[in-house]
Amino acid sequence: MNTYHVDTRDKTDKRYLARCLSQLKSWGAPTDGWYCTEVIDVREDDPEAPLSECELCGCKDVRYEHIMQHDYYFEPVTVGCICAGIMEGSILRARKRERMLRNRSRRRKNFIKRRWVRSDRNICYRRYRNQDIYIFEGTRNYTVKVGWYGTSTYKGRPINNFLSAVYAAFDLADPKGEIL
Ligand SMILES: [Zn+2]
Repeated sequence: MNTYHVDTRDKTDKRYLARCLSQLKSWGAPTDGWYCTEVIDVREDDPEAPLSECELCGCKDVRYEHIMQHDYYFEPVTVGCICAGIMEGSILRARKRERMLRNRSRRRKNFIKRRWVRSDRNICYRRYRNQDIYIFEGTRNYTVKVGWYGTSTYKGRPINNFLSAVYAAFDLADPKGEIL
């Protein structure tokens, strides 16, 4: 049996829970057994980016999206923290995941402010979390190297500016996969 860590003394929370469950039922979707496959900060690159809408409760100010999946449902559902908690049967776990993502976003923001050492004409260097990070500036594109890993793309596109190279470096050095 699932236990929902919603404060049940509050009637609105009970109502909210009931509304979420009936929404799932109306889609013919399972009401439990969901798991989170990804969390996304919609403002990680742009502090002014529009917020997202929770597909379950319709809340329109979701900054941290939880992508929920179910083995017996045909598509993932993008929701906010509390709805994610309801779907996976633990608000505490969803809250913890969101807190970790929020902390990572803070580290990311600090990371881009830090200085780089130009170790060669076309190479920038710095250390982060005991890792050596290099940004190589090519004639047209940038390449990033963190330990054994390297990339010349950021979010699926060739890196053509220094800021994208810094973001790509952060994603390699402080991977989001550790949150799930
Ligand atoms: Zn919601």
